[in-house]
Amino acid sequence: MSVLNIARLGHPILREIAKPVNLKALAASGDNELQQLIDDMIDTMREEDGVGIAAPQVARSLQIVLVEYQQNERYPSQDDIPLTVYVNPKITRSGKETASFWEGCLSLKDLRGLVTRPQEVTVEAFSREGKKMVVEAKGFLAVVLQHEIDHLLGKVFLDRMTDLTQLAWAEEWQTYWTEEESAQSPEAI
Ligand code: ZN
Repeated sequence: MSVLNIARLGHPILREIAKPVNLKALAASGDNELQQLIDDMIDTMREEDGVGIAAPQVARSLQIVLVEYQQNERYPSQDDIPLTVYVNPKITRSGKETASFWEGCLSLKDLRGLVTRPQEVTVEAFSREGKKMVVEAKGFLAVVLQHEIDHLLGKVFLDRMTDLTQLAWAEEWQTYWTEEESAQSPEAI
């Protein structure tokens, strides 16, 4: 297992449509490059303190995203998200209600932007073992999944912003945009 380099904004792969994963290759036993990639993505996400990561962010054009979040004192308002791997994920339903959330991104490390997205989505995907799964996501998980699946479509959160005045460096966001001393900027997702 190893930590991979993060593709930052400007790397062309972040603007490509990611290729679907061959599920037979994913489930093959033995020396399996796809399983190795997933393990490396887990290491990379944890090393970079991300809440999620998509394969294009480690310069691989494949439809794989991971999410994981553990509640901590710095950011207590969100529920935990257990480590989950989504292969070939698709949003099959989006709720009508929307909510705005400050997003960051490992590929735009120090920027934070206010993005409005549906509050609920249904995601169909496959596990890393190749089993089909259907996830009804709400709130924070719905935000993270939409953000990560956007990476597979060649999009970053900036493309989803409707008001670029709501974009800030994390440090300035911290200084000028939070009421309470204890408020922390969102972690990079
Ligand atoms: Zn991102």
